[in-house]
This record gives sequence, structure tokens and C-alpha cells, in this order.
Amino acid sequence: MISAWATKAPGAPLEPFAYQEAALGPDDIEVAITHCGLCHSDVHMIDNDWGNTVYPLVPGHEIIGTVTQAGERVTPLEVGQRVGVGWQRSACLRCSFCIAGEQTFCEKAESTIVGHHGGFADRIRTSGSFAFPIPDALDSVNAAPLLCAGGTVFTPLVTNEVRATMRVAIVGIGGLGHLAVQFAAAWGCEVTAISTSPAKAKEAARLGAAHFLVAKEEELTKATGRFDFILVAVPASLPWLLYVDLLAPKGKLCLVGVPDKPLELAAFPLIVGHKAVCGSAITNRTRMEQMLEFAARHKIVAQTEVMPMSECNKAIDRLRHNQVRYRVVLEN
Ligand code: NAP
Ligand code: ZN
Repeated sequence: MISAWATKAPGAPLEPFAYQEAALGPDDIEVAITHCGLCHSDVHMIDNDWGNTVYPLVPGHEIIGTVTQAGERVTPLEVGQRVGVGWQRSACLRCSFCIAGEQTFCEKAESTIVGHHGGFADRIRTSGSFAFPIPDALDSVNAAPLLCAGGTVFTPLVTNEVRATMRVAIVGIGGLGHLAVQFAAAWGCEVTAISTSPAKAKEAARLGAAHFLVAKEEELTKATGRFDFILVAVPASLPWLLYVDLLAPKGKLCLVGVPDKPLELAAFPLIVGHKAVCGSAITNRTRMEQMLEFAARHKIVAQTEVMPMSECNKAIDRLRHNQVRYRVVLEN
């Protein structure tokens, strides 16, 4: 039996929960979990914000652990190896998207915590194809948040061809945002952190932000037309028209955070300024490996609060109240 923490109804606290592990398929591995980050997507899932939660839900999709068993087709992972597992659990690996390396678009893609039990547990059985060796330079606590948050903020820099000469704003300095500031700064960009929390200004500077703006209309309008790329990592709705105004001509506003309401936009600023609003989800296998290597090389370090797995409810409460600096990592 696997010992885990699960919620049984929308918004309900997690409780100890044991479940029978599935048979180990030829492509599967079992991982003894040492660490698991707490992402805001876990909270969206606990609350069934996206209508796809299957209860009981074991959250957790920023998993670090050691391979304890491997099916006969698993390669190149080995028993005893340290690996990470993120949001995506599997894909068909045969469709045209998978063959092109874009496994996140696979119609058969499955998530670690949708209809499967995640990383708030002592062990997990999952597909070996979506477990990633962790570079030695990264410690496990720091590596955990990279498996979802890191891949999610790294990918749009690549796919939107963000260049070192660009001015980039990161909106929402939480788990994703504080890593995004570091990745964009390491990219060479001039980074501005935009935050509702003035107390985060000093830390944003330490993480690599050249500028800090408080997310208030009177402050933001001072930066009209300034940014080539804005990455929004906020789990809430924002005054989108105002954020489009912050873009320079040809600028892009890219959402990774999931707002609670449809976006309110106007066509003219997009048309006249050749601006774009777009989104980005998690990362594919190649970019996950590139991101881990880039993070190790540039010493991108998640700032974490380490708590025992048994304190997962306290961690969720802190995250709900924007008290975490900047990612809780639960430890077994
Ligand atoms: P987080 O740690 O809670 O950080 C979110 C930050 O947004 C907060 O620290 C806060 O920063 C700001 N914020 C929170 N509530 C706000 C509000 N009502 N208005 C304005 N700002 C607010 O969350 P996270 O783990 O980084 O996740 C952020 C979002 O990304 C979530 O919606 C999550 O589901 C999503 N996500 C998406 C993907 C993907 O593949 N696209 C992957 C992972 C997560 P300040 O204090 O600086 O304002
Ligand atoms: Zn996540």
C-alpha cells in the first residue's frame, strides 16, 4: 500500500490516505519520494476550479525521489537513480505532436494528478518516460520546484524567442514568478517584477529584477509601452487592458497563471500595436532537460520553505494566503 495525503471533496483538508499501487507496467517506474513541491495548481485541483478533479485527490506534481523499481522496457533510468516527475505523467509517444517532441499537445497525455494519485505520498508508480534525471549540481529541495514551476516559466522564453535585448516583466512573484525572474535575468533580459506585495521588492532585486513595480494602476501606467514580453504567473484575473498597454509595439503578454474569469480585452490596442496575448503550459521532455541543465549552470535556486509532508494542510493554508516565500517543498 502507498501512504499518501488526499482530499475527498472540493476545498476539504487533506487526510492520511492509503491506496493499493497499480501493477508495474513494462514502461513504468516506482519512485520513493523524498520531496514534493506545492504548486498553486494543486490548490486549483483541490478546489476543483477546473472541473476535472477526481476525488480522492492526492496532490503533488513537483516530485523528487529515487527509482526503486523499473519495468523491463524502461531506459535509460536505473534503480537507485535520483529523478524528478512533474505535471505530465505520460503521452502516446507515437502521434505527430509526440514525434515532433511536443508531448504536451498529445491527445492521450495524462497528468500526474488528474485521475492518478500524485506526490504527497511516500511512493508513486508512473511512466518512466516522464521521469527526469536530476543534475548533481541541484539539491533535491531546490530541484523539486523546477519540475513544474521551472519548466513552465522556462518554456515561454524559448517558444516566444525572448532575447537578451528585451525588456521583460514578470507579474506575480510567487512559486512560478520568483523562478521566472531568475530565468529571465539569466537570459540577459532587463527584468521588472510586478507584484501586489511591496515587501517583495528587495528579494526581487536579489533574484535579478532590475526594477520593481507595485501592481496598482497609478504605478503601472508609468510603464506604458515599456515591455517586449510580459509573463503573467498570477492565479487570478487582472485588468488586462492595462497590461496590454504596458506592452511595446509587437510585444506579447503570455499567461501561465490561470485566471478565474474570461479575459477582458479590446481589439484596437492589439491591432494597432501588433501585440499578442498568448498562453503556455508546462514543458516538453527536451525542454525539461534543457531547463534543468540551464538552472544548474546558472545557479538558479528556488527559495523554499521546507516542511514535513504531514504539515501539508498548513502549507496549503500558507499558499492560499500568499504567505509562502516562495515555494513550499514537503519532505518525507
Ligand atoms: P503562487 O505561488 O501562489 O504565486 C502566485 C502569485 O501571484 C502570488 O505570490 C502573488 O504574487 C500573486 N497573486 C496571488 N493572488 C493574486 C491576486 N488575486 N491578484 C494579483 N496577484 C495575485 O502560485 P504559483 O504556484 O506560482 O502558480 C501561479 C499560477 O500558475 C496558478 O494559477 C497555477 O495554477 C498556474 N500554473 C500554470 C502552469 C502552466 O503550465 N501554465 C504550471 C504551473 C502553475 P505577488 O505577491 O507578487 O503579487
Ligand atoms: Zn504545477
